[in-house]
Amino acid sequence: MVHLELLYKPAAAEPRQKPGRLVVVSNRVPVPAASSPAAGGLAVALEAALAERGGLWLGWSGKTCNAPDPRPRLQRHGRIDYALCDLSRRDLDEFYHGFANRALWPICHYRLDLAALSQRDAAGYFRVNEQFAATLRGLLRPGDVVWVHDYHFVPLASFLRQAGCANRIGFFLHIPWPAPDVARALPGLSRILRCFAAYDVIGLQTEADGANLKDCLAQAAAATIAGDGTCRAYGRSFAVGAFPIGIDTGAFARAARTAETSTGVARLRQSLAGRPLVIGVDRLDYSKGIPERIEAFATFLERSPEAVRRRPTLLQVTPKSRSEVPEYARMHRAIAEQVGTMNGKWGDIDWTPVRYINKAMSRSTLAGLYRLARIGLVTPLRDGMNLVAKEYVAAQDPEDPGVLVLSQFAGAAQELAAALVVNPYDIEATAAAIGQALAMPLDERKARWSTLMTVLEANTIDHWTSRFLAALGAGSAPAHAAEAAMEPPAMSLPSKDDEDHEAWPAPPPILASTRH
Ligand code: UDP
Repeated sequence: MVHLELLYKPAAAEPRQKPGRLVVVSNRVPVPAASSPAAGGLAVALEAALAERGGLWLGWSGKTCNAPDPRPRLQRHGRIDYALCDLSRRDLDEFYHGFANRALWPICHYRLDLAALSQRDAAGYFRVNEQFAATLRGLLRPGDVVWVHDYHFVPLASFLRQAGCANRIGFFLHIPWPAPDVARALPGLSRILRCFAAYDVIGLQTEADGANLKDCLAQAAAATIAGDGTCRAYGRSFAVGAFPIGIDTGAFARAARTAETSTGVARLRQSLAGRPLVIGVDRLDYSKGIPERIEAFATFLERSPEAVRRRPTLLQVTPKSRSEVPEYARMHRAIAEQVGTMNGKWGDIDWTPVRYINKAMSRSTLAGLYRLARIGLVTPLRDGMNLVAKEYVAAQDPEDPGVLVLSQFAGAAQELAAALVVNPYDIEATAAAIGQALAMPLDERKARWSTLMTVLEANTIDHWTSRFLAALGAGSAPAHAAEAAMEPPAMSLPSKDDEDHEAWPAPPPILASTRH
């Protein structure tokens, strides 16, 4: 590992260097470290793309301090430079806990009732994006291709354009983008939409999300949209398309086969004593539909004396997340109470119907648990994709596969139509699907699984990365191709005047200083 602090220089002083790196920006950066857990599929795929062409990964260090150094901390591992920025406590509150997680997250997940809108947080969101843009500007070389990830950083490209950056810049939104009527709950929507227009390629998880974004652009900016997805709005042309994210299907299947014989899986198998296992794995989040799922499981037991006789177990693995946000703390208490009530009603001296676990598990352990489970119960109320659904399928034993019960509101349902697709709000229908899955004959299980697995093998995380980078003009093409494809930043910039009724603070000048 090489520390490169001293090499950081503002853009103006940087000599023109060999073009063509891939630059990834995401809130958190998986810096390789001996003590860190195995990286997930996304991190591995992005690292591979970065290593292939040489690359830079910029994001928040995960640390806060009183007066963050505007210069990033740089570390090199192989062909990848990692650039980490600290945030002030105020930046973290306003940008991350505030606007990103209490405005954008709930609104993009259709939970207007949970949105907390604050001008201070909105200003913090733009301010921190501006800081990251300034930091990135100091590190960018002509010809670098930039790939920005997720809702924390929608405005990043607009600040880069303001600072004269002509590089190709792509954006992938990992969460849903809502229908215009819902998106309108976001104060300053038109400024956000204008920020989207600063990118060259915008990727979303599903066609429906892409259509929602295009509808928003058409309504707010009379965008013209060509049949190939090219939008023209705010003086710029850019592509909007669906790039459904995949998993490392083969590696996950191998991990599940290996984990089958692990001590943890053996302990779980022994504790079940031949009784069926239903598994749910979700971060603690209101978008995941955990209370509705537990209620559906209770309804399934209530409606089926045969089910009670078979004594199935729902293992709900739910690591806590975002504990600082009050909605999450309330949800944790409510689910714990619901599980207690349900176990009190249905449990017996040798049967706990719901095992609720708040600790995070390694992906390799999860792979083994998925393989043991007769049903994967993946019933979010709204989800960009839901990788657990894909992992559950990949982990199954081809000779005796389990059944995926999948919410129609998960992005994954667009690809995984051979699952039992349910409306998670419809408790009785979900309960019936649990019954259908438990009773499903082996032939049907095999047929459904094989259809699902074909989909997952055709769209792995590597395919996803390659497709997006190709759309951005940064496939395996040499860097000068990306440079040649540059279009001058002819957009008009986000401004307070977009909508008179919107109370966004005016953006302060860029590059005055220097973000899970
Ligand atoms: N996961 C994990 N340990 C856990 C729970 C979840 O490693 O204890 C992983 C899981 O295997 C999946 C990811 O976290 O890869 C969750 O992704 P998903 O798209 O399902 O939901 P998100 O949390 O991104 O909304």
